[in-house]
Amino acid sequence: MDIKVLSEAAKRGHEQVVYFHYPEVGLKAIVGIHNTVLGPALGGCRMRLYTDESQALDDVMRLSEGMTYKSALAGLDLGGGKACLIADPGMKEGRQEMFLKFAECLNNLGGRYITAEDMGTCVSDISTMRRVTKWAAGHSPEEGGSGDPSPWTARGVYQGILAACERKFGSKDLTNKRVMVQGVGNVGMYLLEYLKDAGARLIVSDVRQSSLDEAVRRFGAEVVSSEASYDVDCDIYSPCAIGQTVNPVTIARLKCSIIAGGANNQLSDSSVYEQILAKKILYCPDFALNAGGVTSIAGEYRPEGWQESWVKEKVDGIYTTIHRVLDQAEKRGLFPEVVAVELAKERIAAAREKRSEMK
Ligand code: NAD
Repeated sequence: MDIKVLSEAAKRGHEQVVYFHYPEVGLKAIVGIHNTVLGPALGGCRMRLYTDESQALDDVMRLSEGMTYKSALAGLDLGGGKACLIADPGMKEGRQEMFLKFAECLNNLGGRYITAEDMGTCVSDISTMRRVTKWAAGHSPEEGGSGDPSPWTARGVYQGILAACERKFGSKDLTNKRVMVQGVGNVGMYLLEYLKDAGARLIVSDVRQSSLDEAVRRFGAEVVSSEASYDVDCDIYSPCAIGQTVNPVTIARLKCSIIAGGANNQLSDSSVYEQILAKKILYCPDFALNAGGVTSIAGEYRPEGWQESWVKEKVDGIYTTIHRVLDQAEKRGLFPEVVAVELAKERIAAAREKRSEMK
């Protein structure tokens, strides 16, 4: 992989890509600011031992662009951004020093980018950064933050599933609907709670035995291997683990009517659109469905501060958003993801126009 920064920025529409290098504290970071028309660019900080720099840059560019569409479609006044720290996520020694330095770097960006938790980083890293910057969100409620975003992500996914069921089956009644949840970590486990309460029959897979044990104990879920997730006869396949599980090989195997889950980047690429449509599977765009977490984090930056009622109303709006996307997709014969990106871009274009009128 050999990605050129400016060519990639031109292709995807990024405003700014910033590199930070402070070897004395082990900080090697790339921050991608995709779009700030609607507001500051918000997106998590991923920490990973990337095999090479291009891989980290690729992650930053793709994920920050996705965040722009996610927040725009969710109706948030935020843009899209992402940070990747090239470091061992298991690092203990010197961790605080590294995050304190990164927090200083965020101050240098003057609020154009707000960071949050992501793969490899945790609430305590955010708390460390908050000692130095206000541009890090999702710290603990005891410290005045909004806390773990996962329950909100799961709530939004559930709302989207209800909308998808209404379109596909004519009812949002989930009684005895078979749902295959792949990955029962933070989001997946909260999702099981909603699905169980709604009377769904649950099948789960995970690579962590303790999570499977919990899903069986609390929700009476049936367990299959992760690989077998794609062969399960079910109504809904809900990817809640890793990205790109929906690809040419797995689509050929899927026996579901709906794909609706919390994982980011579920589709391998746009070449699978036709294959999914041909199998008459209803696909709910991942970034439309999993916006609950970012909505909760956005709540921290409202003048009124974080309010549960505001977050709830916004997250429950994912039900209407999914209806809107699927409705337009059906009427116009387009793949739902195409419509979702289009709607997000329309909102950004309108804001840009309004801004230029005011100048
Ligand atoms: P998590 O790490 O808590 O849970 C992921 C689970 O998937 C873990 O239990 C892990 O063991 C399991 N897993 C990993 N590989 C697997 C495989 N091949 N097959 C089956 N299970 C596997 O992460 P999370 O916070 O629950 O996030 C899940 C997904 O949702 C990720 O793609 C994440 O990017 C996305 N997401 C999360 C949030 C959030 O609020 N946490 C918000 C938006 C999107």
